[in-house]
Formats: sequence, structure tokens, C-alpha cells
Amino acid sequence: MNPVYDCHIHMMPGRCDAPETFLAKITAAGMTGGSIFSLPPKNTLFYKTGTTMPEHRERIANVLDFCRKLPDTFHPFFWLNPTEPDALEQIRYAKEHGILGFKVLCSTYAPLEGLAAYRECARLGLPVHFHSGILYDGEVSGGFNRPLDFECLLEVSGLRFALAHISWPWTDECLALFGKFRSAAGMRSGPAPEMYIDTCPGAPEFARVDAFRKIGLLPYDAGSRLLFGIDSSVNDYSTDGARRIHEFDRNAFNKFHAMYSDPVRVHEEVPFTRHGLDALDFNSIFENAVSVNYLRFIGKKDGRKQ
Ligand SMILES: [Zn+2]
Repeated sequence: MNPVYDCHIHMMPGRCDAPETFLAKITAAGMTGGSIFSLPPKNTLFYKTGTTMPEHRERIANVLDFCRKLPDTFHPFFWLNPTEPDALEQIRYAKEHGILGFKVLCSTYAPLEGLAAYRECARLGLPVHFHSGILYDGEVSGGFNRPLDFECLLEVSGLRFALAHISWPWTDECLALFGKFRSAAGMRSGPAPEMYIDTCPGAPEFARVDAFRKIGLLPYDAGSRLLFGIDSSVNDYSTDGARRIHEFDRNAFNKFHAMYSDPVRVHEEVPFTRHGLDALDFNSIFENAVSVNYLRFIGKKDGRKQ
């Protein structure tokens, strides 16, 4: 089976499948690995009133324990609130115990407020996977999740980070920000931060297809930093949904591959954006998004644990 990594899998409060059941469901969907985000930090959005909200040690132990019972192609991420007073200690504790990356959702704070935490993640060589885009939480939170709010990560040398959902409805802003990070790499001292884009739904189909096309046409080589994701959960992984999303995305890239393998067509559409005659390989963009880009994001050169 070719490797297909789902970069966006949740573990949420409430009933949860056993690891073996989850593995059977995700394997049936054609996925071979991915990132599993721990239970969320304390936030009434995720925990019903009256339920206990577990401390970071317990949440770290949960996700590590779950992943230990899975093949090593599954990677435990810790869902961090970078504004908690002991965030830096949580990060170090997570790393020491085997966490391989962090998930952050800026529901009540701006990305800028977590810079010290992201610097620590970068220092430890661990990636940060952010929610980005509109958040249907009943709260005033959109201003914390626009792509441009993440421009402050330019200050975090060496950080690998991803923005999820192509930041819908701000997908163009997300791609423009990507271009900025790409170009800034040659303008700033120290190891440049690396931005990745997680294309998982949340963004409606037509917006995603539109973004896929632009990702290929823009001259930023975004195809080398694209991640494929489903945004389902280990609680009850959606085999059918994941299979359909995988097929949908592959078909969309395939359609663009046929369309833009003709360099004349590319030249007609973007004569000033791209110089010269280029045939565009959209199929490779998708193949990389489901495999090698993901491994680079989590800091693995190949499929083996470091
Ligand atoms: Zn999610």
C-alpha cells in the first residue's frame, strides 16, 4: 500500500474506539499513518459543563498510550494552549515523553500571544499545527484565526508550522502569506520558518478545488509544503468520509493535471506570474501532499522514527 498520511486526526472527549478499531477503520479508508492530536486543553467549547477537564500530563499520557498501540507511522501531537502560565514546561515535558508535535487552536487569544511557546517548539525541533479560518464556536474568535495573524511567526526562526483548512474563507490570504514566508527565507537571518498548508475540509469543496488550482499556478512551490488531511477523530474515524475526501482531492488534482500539462494553457492564464512555458505537474503535488511533505513537516526524512 502506498503511504497516505492524514495530517489532522483528533482525539476528543467522550466515547472513543479502541486503537485496534481505529486502525481497522483508517486502514479501510486507505490511510497508512498521520498525526493524532491529544484531547484539547481546558476550554468549555470542548468539554461539557460538569465533566472534568484533564491536566496536560494526563492528556499527553492518553495520546502516547493510544499511539503506542498503533504502527509507528502514527505520530502523537499534544494540543497546547500556549498562553497557559506553564506552557513552556508543558512543551518540554511533552517532548521528553515522546510527543512529536503540537496542535494549537487560537480560540481566545491571538497567535502573537504564544510566540514564546512557539520559540520553544522550534528550539526542540517540533512542528506546530494551527487551526486557521473561521471558527464556529459561538464566540468572537475570527480575528484570532485569519492567516495574516500568523505573520508574526516570521519572528520564530526555524519553526515548522501548518495552517489548517487552507484558512477558509481566507484561502487567498493564506496563499499570499505562504508566498511571503517563502520569499522571506532569503531576506532574514537565521533558519527561516517553514509554513505548510493543511488542505483538510472545513473549507467547502468548491473553495478547496479553487485553492488547489491556485496552489499549482502560483510560483511559490506551495506543492512542496502541502499536507493532506481529513479532520476526523480516533473516537469514530469516518472510513467512508475519508475515502471520499481522498478520492475527491485526487480527482481534482488529476483534472488540473490534464488541463495544465499543456504549457500554452498555463502561459495563457498566468503569462506574468510565471515566466516562460511550463507544463504543471498537479499529480505530483497531490502525491507529495499525502506522503513526503508530511514526513518533512514532522521532521522525518523517511518513514522511520528518529
Ligand atoms: Zn480539526
